[in-house]
Amino acid sequence: MVFGQVQTDHMLIVNYDPVKGWGAPEIKPYGPLVLDPMASCFQYCPNVFEGMKAYVGPDGEPRLFRPQKNMERLARSAARVALPPFNPDALLTLIKRLVAIEKRWIPNKPGYSLYLRPTVIGTRPALGVTASDSACLYVVATPTGPYFKGKARAVSLLAVNENVRAWPGGTGGHKLGLNYAPGFLPQREAAKKGYDQILWLLEDRITEVGAMNVFVVVKRDDGDIDVFTPPLDGTILPGVTRSSVIELLNAHGSSAASLPGISQKTYVQERTITMPEIKSWSDAGRLLEIFGCGTAVVVAPVGRIGYSAWGDEEVVLPEHDGGHGPIGKAVCTRLTDIQTGKSQFDGWSVPV
Ligand code: PMP
Repeated sequence: MVFGQVQTDHMLIVNYDPVKGWGAPEIKPYGPLVLDPMASCFQYCPNVFEGMKAYVGPDGEPRLFRPQKNMERLARSAARVALPPFNPDALLTLIKRLVAIEKRWIPNKPGYSLYLRPTVIGTRPALGVTASDSACLYVVATPTGPYFKGKARAVSLLAVNENVRAWPGGTGGHKLGLNYAPGFLPQREAAKKGYDQILWLLEDRITEVGAMNVFVVVKRDDGDIDVFTPPLDGTILPGVTRSSVIELLNAHGSSAASLPGISQKTYVQERTITMPEIKSWSDAGRLLEIFGCGTAVVVAPVGRIGYSAWGDEEVVLPEHDGGHGPIGKAVCTRLTDIQTGKSQFDGWSVPV
């Protein structure tokens, strides 16, 4: 099962007309859209999307993970490119309907889920450079398996700052289609050099890993653990997984939320992290783990980082059996258990 290549039977679709507003939503057989070749979405890219998953838990019932967060982020993204506003609660109700109808497509196996792709595109059928006053909102779904086939594998990163994914005042903090295509060529170049993903920098500050948020785990002098992640300053996407990892680490220590296998206290800080800091923590033997996180992968451990400013020298992370370091593994297990309804945390797992 290759990610995103299998379509389920149905899609949800609703159109916005400048005169009538949002029309009646429809759940209908999956199929192509018919759009005017002048449509705004092809020219100026007022296109926004979400990535979220439906899981089947031990009770056999489909569940969504913190879906309100995806609805709010989609509404925020749409507003950023002046697409018409929509009611996030109403969209969630419709998505639940779609998931209920497509339930048979959710593989009931560990690591499998139904990936949902809510999308809004500007459909104004004219070439003027202006906000799209018509839109099409649709949701398609594709069954998906584990990101890593077999055991998790530590990924290699090439740190890049000659191309940037986002910049202060730019759009990197929103989930806009136009943020992604400019990363394709640098990603291809990084792959040619033997790296799995790009570590996107802004000058020497780390921002994101590929299309994942990033966490850096550092040993403190008192033996406990600092977990650093870049702040939401508009240059990184506010990931649902990122905020969940932060909340789980903050809750770690209270008996209900304790992370499996972690005896140290964890101190999370949203703060700027620079490449020289990563190098010096590594040189001092204090760099314990780096991991990326996102809906698709949950947690991706990092094995090594190359960076032109370091010449041929790479930062190599400690190796762990099974790929994950202890913190990455603990949050991954905890998140997966919550997503599939095996355990609860603060109402995060929402039955359909
Ligand atoms: N950063 C980028 C650029 C992304 O595309 C994604 C995936 N949506 C993430 C981070 C992770 O976000 P989430 O945890 O909400 O999937």
